[in-house]
This record gives sequence, C-alpha cells and structure tokens, in this order.
Amino acid sequence: MHPSQPVHIVGGGLAGSEAAWQLARRGVPVMLHEMRPLRSTAVHKTGNFAELVCSNSFRSDDSQGSAIGLLHAEMRRLGSLVLATADAHVLPAGGALAVDREGFAAAITAAIEGEPLIEISREEIIDLPPEWESVIIATGPLTSPALAETIRRLTGEAALAFFDAIAPIVHRDSIDFEIAWFQSRYDKSGPAGSGADYINCPLTRAQYEAFVDALLAGDKTSFHEFETATPYFDGCLPIEVMAERGRETLRHGPMKPFGLTNPRRPSEKPYAVVQLRQDNKLGTLFNIVGFQTKLKHGEQARIFRTIPGLANAEFARLGGLHRNTFLNSPKLLDETLRLNEMPRLRFAGQITGCEGYVESAAIGLLAGRFAATERLGERPSLPPPTTAHGALLAHITGGHIETIDAGPRSFQPMNVNFGLFPPLGASTARDARKQALCARALADLEAWIGAALPHAAE
Ligand SMILES: Cc1cc2nc3c(=O)[nH]c(=O)nc-3n(C[C@H](O)[C@H](O)[C@H](O)COP(=O)(O)OP(=O)(O)OC[C@H]3O[C@@H](n4cnc5c(N)ncnc54)[C@H](O)[C@@H]3O)c2cc1C
Repeated sequence: MHPSQPVHIVGGGLAGSEAAWQLARRGVPVMLHEMRPLRSTAVHKTGNFAELVCSNSFRSDDSQGSAIGLLHAEMRRLGSLVLATADAHVLPAGGALAVDREGFAAAITAAIEGEPLIEISREEIIDLPPEWESVIIATGPLTSPALAETIRRLTGEAALAFFDAIAPIVHRDSIDFEIAWFQSRYDKSGPAGSGADYINCPLTRAQYEAFVDALLAGDKTSFHEFETATPYFDGCLPIEVMAERGRETLRHGPMKPFGLTNPRRPSEKPYAVVQLRQDNKLGTLFNIVGFQTKLKHGEQARIFRTIPGLANAEFARLGGLHRNTFLNSPKLLDETLRLNEMPRLRFAGQITGCEGYVESAAIGLLAGRFAATERLGERPSLPPPTTAHGALLAHITGGHIETIDAGPRSFQPMNVNFGLFPPLGASTARDARKQALCARALADLEAWIGAALPHAAE
C-alpha cells in the first residue's frame, strides 16, 4: 500500500473516531467518512463525532472490581481519545463515569478536526471502492440501509442481522447444581456435544403457572418508534409474547419437558424445564434457551430467579430485542477484525457484535491499531485474552460458540463482563475473584505494552 494512501474509516461514531485517532497517533493518514449531518440515523441529533445517542453514562469506573471499569483503565493506558475526553467532561455520578454529552462530543469533534493526519469527508458511503486498500467499517447499530445492503451482499444473507434477539446469559458458577442437572434432550450428542450439554432447571406445575403469571404481569420496555418495522421474526418471539398466546405455549416451546429426566427424581416428570446452553468456549457462560425478552432488566432478574436452580443466578447479560445491525463475527472476521474473504475490509464498533459506548470505542481502538500496524509493515500483536480488550476481542472473533444443535445463529451482542475472561486457577470468593481478575488483566496489559506496543502509551 502506498504510504500516502489513507486508511478509510466509514462512520465517525464512538468506534470510528477512536480508530481514526489511533491511526493518526501512529502517523498513518486517515480519511474519515461520516454521513451526518447531511444524512442522519433515526437516533442521532447532531453532526458531531462520537455523539452519545441515549444515556450519558460510561457505567462503572471501578477498575478493581468491574469489567467495564477495567476496560476504562486499559483504554486510558492505551491512549484512548474517548476515555481522555470523557475524563475531561466528567459529571458527578457516584461510582459511574458520566459525561456532559454535548461537551464530550464537541471535544471529540474538535480533536478530530484539529488532527492534520485526519481528513474528513461528510458523505454517505454506499459502495466500498476496490481502490480503498484498507478500510474500517464502523457504521454502528444503525448503519445506513444502502451500505447495509452492500455489506449483506459481501457477507451473505444470514451473516448480517438487523435486530438482535438477546436471551439472558448466566454465569455458570452461580447456578445451583443441587437442583439443576446436565443433560441434552433424549441424550442426543449432536455434532459438537456430549449428550449432556444443557443445564436443565425443572418446574412443577405450580411453579410453571406462577412463572407464566409473572411474565404476563411483568413490566416491559416498549420499542422505539423507529424499531416498529420488523420487531419479531421467525423463531425469536419474546417469551412474554409466547405466554400471551396461551398458558401452555411455553411448555410446548422453549420450556418443553420432553426427553429429560431429573436424576434426583427419575420417576417424576417435571411439568416444564428451562434449559441453558453453553455460550462461550471457556464454558463460564450459559444462555437461557429461547428466553429473548422485552421485560425490563429489573423484572428479568426478579422473575428468572424464581426458576428452580437460578435463585442466586448472576447475569452476565440480560435479555433484549432491539434494532441493531451486526455481523456474525465469529464466522466472518479474523482475529484482527478483518473480513476473512476480503481482508482489506476491517470492522469496528457495535457492528462487530459488542454492545455499549465503551466497548464500541475499545474495539475501534484495536481496529485502528491493527490497521496502523499493517500499514507500517509490522506484525499485529493481539492483546492477551486475560485483559478486558483481549476478552472482548476473543468473544467477537471466536470465543462464542455456535449452537450445538441445528438452529438459528446464536451470536448476539455482548457487553464486556467477567464471564468472557479465562477463569482463575483457584476458586475464590466473588469479590476477591473480581479483584484478582482485574489485577491479572492490568499486569498482563503492562507486559503486553512493554513487549509488543512500544507506541502504546504515547
Ligand atoms: C437507540 C439506541 C440507544 C443506545 N443507548 C446506549 C446507551 O445508553 N449506552 C450505551 O453504552 N450504548 C447504547 N447504545 C449502543 C451503542 O453502544 C451505541 O449505539 C454506540 O454509539 C455504538 O458505537 P459505534 O461507533 O459502533 O456506532 P455509532 O456511534 O452509531 O457510529 C456510527 C456512525 O456511522 C455513521 N454512518 C452510518 N452509516 C453510514 C454510511 N453509510 N456512511 C457514512 N457514515 C455512516 C453514523 O452516522 C454514525 O455516526 C444504544 C444504541 C441505540 C441504537
């Protein structure tokens, strides 16, 4: 690639702005294409880069005990524009990092506009010209329809989703195995299974009836106006909608008890069974099968903890259903976020299947650094999987596992959480474990910076 050729970044949101900054810091020229304000999305209101479309919170800033706080700390250490600007526009918010949204986006815009190596082009990108030898696509959950169609053509029909359908994910070590047991329906092993791949939680008739009542009465979130076009699609009805269709619907759907025997009461058939399926290769996270939902988060935690075996469940992610453009990244992307089939195209931000402002910016940071490394003729160095950056990247590019049996693709957007980190050797109490994971991450990040990233702390 000729040194004067810029890396093209499409989308100047959280990820695209951070990627552009990282490239410029390494001396690589950038052409940043952003369609706003000429053309907007359904939720953006300004032409500023890195506009926060909803909450003004970057969530917990606790780098000793929370995965998102750890990600903040790592981003600060890696010279993130988004974190430095957030710190400069912080508002009082207890343990959270909340920002003055207008000051934040205006400052990011000023930094990008003031950076001589970044050229800005205000236009909607629809095609990705072949002469663009290095491209980062960071167009987010509301990628413009014309570009989404181009991406869909490049990646295949089923590889780009336009809605997420998120079932809650539970930390395995919070499930009560005095009640739940491992078994696949009819002990089938399938292509990648053992015959005992699912965690099963049994319900009596009274428990099932109470559960259905709770679903029907539970507080739900409503769709945004722009989301109403295609909210529900095949096989992905929210559980509360299934419950509304009839009291027995769930028992003949995701909660069917057939082919399962409770080893503690083999002669007694459960009236219904909730199944959880392994979600990541590490085996630390399990999703509740078929439980995509629009119930409010507090209601989900309360109602799902009434399921026998889940009384103390810790949720790595609660369920949801939103308009969200994202790739089946574990299949499509290589470990440095490039499209396997067309490595000149790299993806960053929420379109890769991470979730949240900070996670999107972090993946933008990595994409920018990978593109810079490539451009400078160096070998890319992946962040250790024990760091928050490495754990998130590994989830996107391969850590998630596909369904064990045939079914729709199962990769869904994910916030950073401790379930994505390789577990510690010794089992420790919950708070001590979180602290140990954070300490390990920060130590490994320092070693990585020292060994592989001579420019990281610039
Ligand atoms: C309604 C809604 C509410 C959300 N609320 C929160 C929240 O409260 N907290 C949170 O942490 N996360 C939230 N998110 C999730 C997510 O973290 C943010 O959307 C985040 O901004 C994603 O960062 P990104 O850089 O990937 O995409 P974005 O920040 O959306 O940036 C993408 C950019 O690409 C531009 N673009 C799109 N198509 C084209 C094109 N063809 N050509 C040129 N430019 C284009 C867009 O104008 C936009 O500027 C929300 C998402 C949505 C949709």
